[in-house]
Amino acid sequence: MKTEVAPAVVVLGQNSLTVARQIIQVLPTATLYGLANRTTGVDFSFTNFGDTVRGLFIQRTPLIGICAAGILIRTLAPLLCDKQQEPPVLAVAEDGSAVVPLLGGLSGVNEIARHIAQALGVNPAITTTGDLRFHTTLLSPPPGYKLANPEAGKKFISDLLAGSQVRLEGTAPWLTNSQLPIHPDGELTIQITERSIKGQGAGGRERGEMTPDSGGAKGLSPPLLFSGSRSGAEPSPLLPAPTSNCLIYHPTTIAIGMGDTTPQEGEVRQLLGETELSPASVAGIFAPLSLAASPEIHTLSRNLGVPARFFPTTQLANFLSQGYTLAQAVALTATGVSGELISPSSPVAIALAPQPIDPTTIGQPRGRLAIIGTGPGGWQWMSPQVKEILHGATDLVGYKTYLDLIGVLGDGKQRHESDNRQETGRAMLALDLAAEGRYVAVVSSGDPGIYAMAAAVFEVLEQHGKPEWHTIEIQVAPGISAMQAAAAAIGAPLGHDFCAISLSDILKPWAMIEQRIAAAAEADFVIAFYNPVSQERTWQLAQARDILLRYRGPHTPVVVARNLGRPGQMVKVITLDQLTPDVADMRTVILVGSSQTRQFPRQDGGIWVYTPRRYSG
Ligand code: SAH
Repeated sequence: MKTEVAPAVVVLGQNSLTVARQIIQVLPTATLYGLANRTTGVDFSFTNFGDTVRGLFIQRTPLIGICAAGILIRTLAPLLCDKQQEPPVLAVAEDGSAVVPLLGGLSGVNEIARHIAQALGVNPAITTTGDLRFHTTLLSPPPGYKLANPEAGKKFISDLLAGSQVRLEGTAPWLTNSQLPIHPDGELTIQITERSIKGQGAGGRERGEMTPDSGGAKGLSPPLLFSGSRSGAEPSPLLPAPTSNCLIYHPTTIAIGMGDTTPQEGEVRQLLGETELSPASVAGIFAPLSLAASPEIHTLSRNLGVPARFFPTTQLANFLSQGYTLAQAVALTATGVSGELISPSSPVAIALAPQPIDPTTIGQPRGRLAIIGTGPGGWQWMSPQVKEILHGATDLVGYKTYLDLIGVLGDGKQRHESDNRQETGRAMLALDLAAEGRYVAVVSSGDPGIYAMAAAVFEVLEQHGKPEWHTIEIQVAPGISAMQAAAAAIGAPLGHDFCAISLSDILKPWAMIEQRIAAAAEADFVIAFYNPVSQERTWQLAQARDILLRYRGPHTPVVVARNLGRPGQMVKVITLDQLTPDVADMRTVILVGSSQTRQFPRQDGGIWVYTPRRYSG
C-alpha cells in the first residue's frame, strides 16, 4: 500500500513493538518513532510525545499511534481546524485488538485502517457513514484516480445518503465494485475522464507562460485527436464546469514521453491544452535514460506532482523498430501495447492507456547516490539528513564495520560489504547500482569528505566516467568528524586555526607527510592526526612527535581520543613528550595543541583543554 508521505508509527513503550513491526510489514515506508528511555531498536527516539506528534501532523505525516485514542485526540486537538489538510491519524491498541481511524477521512484514513486491521486480523472501527454504506470513500479515491472537484463532495454525498442514485460515465472498477446506488437514470453523475474541465485549463497558458507560437507543439491541429475517447464518443470542447450533482475523477492514464530533447514545461502544458487533456490525468513523465539528469524533466515532474521514469534504450527497441519516433516509443513503452498515441509528431508524445498507469512499476527512477557520514559512532551524532537517507535508500555500500554501526536503520536493505581498502571498487559498484535506478548510500564513518569515500567516488566519476553514471543524482551528506567529536569531549582544542593530517603513508609518501607536519608545526596550527597507527604502521607516530618537538614544548597538551561514540570510548590528555605509538590504534584520533592551547581542572577531577580564540603571538 502506498501513501504519498511515509507514515510514522509512534510507540510509547517496548510492549508496543510487536504490533508496530506487524504494521510496518504492511506499510514498509513507515518510520518507527519510540519514546526515549522506554524503547530500543526504533528508527527515531523522541523525548516529548506532544511536540513530536504535533510536528508530524503539521508536516502532514500519516500518524499511527500505538496508544489510547484519547492521548492522540488531546495532543492534536489544538491543531484541528481544516479537515482538507489533515493527514490520516489512527490509534491502534497495544495488543493489536483495535484499529481506530480518528482523522483524515479525506486523506485515506479508512483505507489505511482496513489495511492495518487486515494485517492484525481484526475489524477496523470505521465510523464514516458514507464509507460504511457505500464501501468506498468518494472523497479520497484510490491511487490512479484524482477527484477534480472535491468542493462538490459534501452535497453529493449527503444527496446519496438521502437516497439519490448515481449515473456512471466512464470506467472505474473501484466504483462499479462498490455499493454505490448506480443507475443509468441517476440524478447524480460520476464522470471518469482524462478530459479537461472548464476553468481547469492546462496551466501553462493560464499563467501566461507562452505565446501561441512559442515552440515545440507548433503545427498541431487543434482541437485534437480524441481518436475515439474510451466511450467511443465524438470529441467535444472542454467539459463544462461541473455542478454539485457531478463528481469528476481524472484517471492517471496519460503517459508523457520525451525524445532526444527536453521541452520546457510550457510546451508540455500547451500540448495538453491543445489535446484537451487534464494535467491531473498525467501518470508520469517518461524519457530515455540518457535524459535522466535533465533539470527540465524534473521540474516538470515536480510541478505536475508525478514521477519521472526512465527507459534504457534496450527497452525502447521494440517500438523504435516499428518506426515510431523516440518520444512516441517512450510514451508507448509506458502505456504498453494497448496504449494509444494522441499527439502528432513533436518533441513530446502523449499516449493514453486504457487503465490508470502505476508509474512506479514502469522503467526506472533516476538513480541516486548519497555519500553519507554517520558520525564517529554514537546514534546522537548522526544527522537527521543522514537518517532520512538511510531510511529511503535501497542499497548500502561500505566497509562492514561502518554498515554495522548504523544498526536497525540498515534493516531490509541490500548490503554490499567490502574491505576497507577497496575504495575504488566500492565507488564503482555504488555508481553502477545507482545507474540501474537504485538509491544507494555509500556509508563512511565521521564525515564522508574527510579521509573517506566522497573523494573516492568523485575520483572514479571523473576518471572512469561511464555515460550512465552521469545520469545519477549525487549528494554528499556531512557527518561529525572524529576530530570534532574528540574536541567536544575535552573542551575546545580546535578553537583557533587547526589542520588535519593523516599519518597513513599508503596513499602519499612519508617524506611529504613529514614535510607537512613540520610546516604545520612551524605555523603553530593545532594538528589533528588521523590514522595515527595501524597494525602494520607503528613507527610514524613517534617520528611525527619528534618533528613536533622541534617546534613545540614537551608539555604541549595532546588529546588522545579512542572509539569515540562507540563502546570503549576513551579520551585522555597527555603531554607531547608522552606521545608514543602504544597510546593509539587505528580507532584513535590525536589532537596536538598549539603553543597557545591551555588546560585546567574540572570540578569532577577531569580536565578541560581549549585553544583561545585570540592569538597573543
Ligand atoms: N571520515 C572519518 C575519518 C576516516 S579515517 C571522519 O571524518 O572521522 C579513519 C581514522 O579516523 C581513524 O584511524 C581514526 O584516526 C579516526 N576515527 C574514526 N572514527 C573514530 C572514532 N570513533 N574514534 C576515534 N577516532 C576515530
